[in-house]
Amino acid sequence: MLHRRRSWVFDLDGTLTVAAHDFDAIRDELGLPSGEPILESLARLSPTEAAPLHARLTVIEAEIAERARPQPHARETLSALRERGVRLGILTRNKRSLAFISLRAAGLGGLFDDADVLGRDEAAPKPSPEGLQLLLSRWAVPGDDAVMVGDYLFDLQAGRAAGMATVHFDPSAAFPWRDHADRCVSRLDQLLDPA
Ligand SMILES: [Mg+2]
Repeated sequence: MLHRRRSWVFDLDGTLTVAAHDFDAIRDELGLPSGEPILESLARLSPTEAAPLHARLTVIEAEIAERARPQPHARETLSALRERGVRLGILTRNKRSLAFISLRAAGLGGLFDDADVLGRDEAAPKPSPEGLQLLLSRWAVPGDDAVMVGDYLFDLQAGRAAGMATVHFDPSAAFPWRDHADRCVSRLDQLLDPA
């Protein structure tokens, strides 16, 4: 019964905002191998090699963040969850500072406590559950009172590893990672249904 759970963590890009990252184009621009997650590719480089690429990545991501658009029903769904007394957080593989830019650009500001928005510099990136564990311990709630909502495999893997229920969001309703999810939704307002 997900709707009884009192702590909800959302992925940001592609979940609360409309997916806008062309990861293949970003890998090309940074000269990184295709078919491999960007942060993990950068982590294998020496600090000297990685530093300029991290800087360039941040510039690319900032341009995308400034144009962020909300997913349909994002604001009404988050507001309704808050009215129910649900605690809301965000865990993104993006930078925390850019998450705030995206939220503001997408009209989703003011729905999250700043302290409950974590990015890749606050915890090991998803699929590591570290960021989720940080939020759960800050909120003093167990994983079985919490939900992780995201549009990518890493979101669901991180949620499961933290002992949380997982919701696979996919506006195309294809749900490629359904085996990692307790629930699949193609619209965010479906999160308000008793299920
Ligand atoms: Mg995402």
